[in-house]
Amino acid sequence: MPYARIGYGMKILVLNAGSSSLKYALYETSPEAAASDSDQLLGEGLIERVISMADAIKTAFTVLSKALGGEAVAGVGHRVVHGGTYPASMIIDAAVESTIEALCELAPLHNPHSLEAYRAARAHLPHAVHVAVFDTAFHQTIPRHAYAYAMANEYVADKKIRRYGFHGISHRSVSLRFAKIQRKSPADLRLVICHLGNGSSICAVDRGRSIDTSMGFTPLEGLVMGTRSGDVDASALLHLILHAGADPAALLHALNNKSGLLAISGVSNDMRDVLTAADSGNEHAKAAVDAFCYRAKKFIGAYSAAMNGADALVFTAGIGEHSAPIRAGICEGLDRLGIVVDPALNQAKSTTARCIGHSPISVWVVPTEEQLLIARDTLAAVTAISRHN
Ligand code: AMP
Repeated sequence: MPYARIGYGMKILVLNAGSSSLKYALYETSPEAAASDSDQLLGEGLIERVISMADAIKTAFTVLSKALGGEAVAGVGHRVVHGGTYPASMIIDAAVESTIEALCELAPLHNPHSLEAYRAARAHLPHAVHVAVFDTAFHQTIPRHAYAYAMANEYVADKKIRRYGFHGISHRSVSLRFAKIQRKSPADLRLVICHLGNGSSICAVDRGRSIDTSMGFTPLEGLVMGTRSGDVDASALLHLILHAGADPAALLHALNNKSGLLAISGVSNDMRDVLTAADSGNEHAKAAVDAFCYRAKKFIGAYSAAMNGADALVFTAGIGEHSAPIRAGICEGLDRLGIVVDPALNQAKSTTARCIGHSPISVWVVPTEEQLLIARDTLAAVTAISRHN
């Protein structure tokens, strides 16, 4: 393990392969740098409309070659959406690789791209430690009463049908960052975290552990999202298939890609466009904003109940970090629950973590740092191997 010099900076590459994009970032970090938040971002980029992940990886390496300056990469952290029941990040060996492959069945839009990115990156960097950082892992602490669907056993036993939860990298990153800001241990905090982006989910983080989250078997469950419906009565779908001639595959596609804000507003899946249309009087756009805020509010109430109260409500991701009207809309009428947003603090423009409501349950905006968390998990794996060797 020639590259892992404990006490010195190591180059860690982060690869986040989406359904049609590749985000990448190169960090120089060390255990000391991670502890003092002084990891250095050496370069990052986004490649969109990816047709071949192998070509995209090649492009990323070309772009980063200057930042690498001929130095070796010690570790590569791969974001993997579905990690089944893995409770933590894993060094990718043959067994982990084949588990990720088997999980393609449960996450057909995501895991195949992560695998392709991993295989291409491994071909470029065969001596680096490759680590899978899963979006599901943080939610493995959810108790059975919250993750099990109350369905007849014949349909759930041995079929892996359960709630897994997603966005775990983001929820974990925000909960750790919030604890650091408060100078508290995560074990002393109960947080409701709203990750509101193109995909959205809310998570109840009870003393550092996810105890419930709004996404389920797939990222379709829960909130109204850009193009996803969130919760729908399963029998409405079966009714459409059995009695209205709906094609199951087309229906699944519509639930994921043509629903949510896009369907209700008839305008866009992008909250900025929907808000602009609502402001200019478009009733459908207003209905979409109302549905989005109301569904989020319901989960905030549910998770406050699940934890017998909360210390803070935290907003993150594209909409959560940038949209004051949506944060205000979600929190409207929650004062008796102890949640009040301060209008001036909410509207102040900032890109850093900040309090926007000093109510009994304080309200915060904390930018998500998914890439940094992936880099640090990878660093931890590389360091553990070096110590061992
Ligand atoms: P993410 O998935 O976290 O990258 O979030 C992307 C989404 O954030 C976009 O689709 C937009 O809907 C939303 N977004 C970003 N900036 C704003 C803003 N200023 N106001 C409302 N929505 C925003």
